[in-house]
Amino acid sequence: MLLNLLEYHWAEDIDDALLLLARTDTKTVPLAGGTYLLGLDDDSIQAVVDLRDLELSYITEDTRGIHIGAMTTLQTMGDSQLLKDLANGMLAQAAIASSFSRIVRNSATLGGTLAAGVASQADLLTVLAVMDAEVVLRSGSKTQINLSGGTPDHPGLALSGVTFKGKQERKVPSRSLALERKPNELIIEVVVPRYAYGCAASFMRVGRTPTDVALINAAALVEVSDGKYSQVRLALGGVGMEPIRMEAVEKELEGQPTDPSGGTNAALDTQRIVSAVQTGMANFSPQVDFRASSGYRRVSGMNLAFRTLEEAATISRWRNMLSTRGRQ
Ligand SMILES: Cc1cc2nc3c(=O)[nH]c(=O)nc-3n(C[C@H](O)[C@H](O)[C@H](O)COP(=O)(O)OP(=O)(O)OC[C@H]3O[C@@H](n4cnc5c(N)ncnc54)[C@H](O)[C@@H]3O)c2cc1C
Repeated sequence: MLLNLLEYHWAEDIDDALLLLARTDTKTVPLAGGTYLLGLDDDSIQAVVDLRDLELSYITEDTRGIHIGAMTTLQTMGDSQLLKDLANGMLAQAAIASSFSRIVRNSATLGGTLAAGVASQADLLTVLAVMDAEVVLRSGSKTQINLSGGTPDHPGLALSGVTFKGKQERKVPSRSLALERKPNELIIEVVVPRYAYGCAASFMRVGRTPTDVALINAAALVEVSDGKYSQVRLALGGVGMEPIRMEAVEKELEGQPTDPSGGTNAALDTQRIVSAVQTGMANFSPQVDFRASSGYRRVSGMNLAFRTLEEAATISRWRNMLSTRGRQ
């Protein structure tokens, strides 16, 4: 309960919302789906700005990639054909897996999930980290200055209390959002790049039950071309964990041939993936909590890393073969 809430603002324009959030005398926070915020026990929040009329619920595509508005609900993401067709539907799948209650998914938004971060317990964060998604942040400012009078050469009136309104926009990688976002910055949208046809993805999770939060989850994006791993992305996350990109595993595989004999044979060298995971995840020591030990998460995480990489690499190889045959 927000016991000290004094003001509720229903913003109709993004600039109005930004100015309200920029206030320093009244602690003001955005209200999206409310599934997390309204349950918070935070006496410092004095005002909320409802974002529902800001037209930030959309999923569109242009040359830069797929744009998902901050007010898009998890259910809309899960139902979106555009997202189902992107990277083997990994993002749509993770949006549904992020909360197994349809009631929650119908309210909870992408922006709210990103801003809540680890507290949202969402699988979506791991998938966005592996997809190199960028988050567009916007902030507003209002300053009052006194203008001095002009000179004989440049005549002008002195004016006091002139208000200047400004706004700033920047993009940050989704995986460093928690570190980089300032409290007055509003999440506007997430931009996910489009991938080549040969790039394939895989997402897997382990929970105590199929509908429980993920103790550990893994997402991989792999592109195989000319018998080599040309692009490898791997991230692990789970309940209470910031998603971690396994860059050491990515480096172990990128540029390496997929075929054990060094040629362009269809066979996949699973031993190479195993050894890349073992080497690259040697220092992986996930947290302990009442749900699972670090050892359990570590072993399950390595297992998921192997399985997602293998699945994504296999799909990518097949896609390459099919598209090559199509051209012959
Ligand atoms: C009983 C219950 C169980 C849940 N279990 C899960 C679960 O297991 N997994 C899961 O993923 N989710 C779960 N959720 C939902 C979870 O709260 C949402 O996934 C999400 O974290 C909140 O989204 P929201 O749109 O409701 O955000 P809100 O609750 O409105 O806001 C969350 C935070 O984000 C800030 N915020 C919102 N929008 C923006 C924006 N555009 N820019 C900047 N800051 C913003 C708010 O100020 C607030 O601090 C659960 C919710 C309930 C009620």
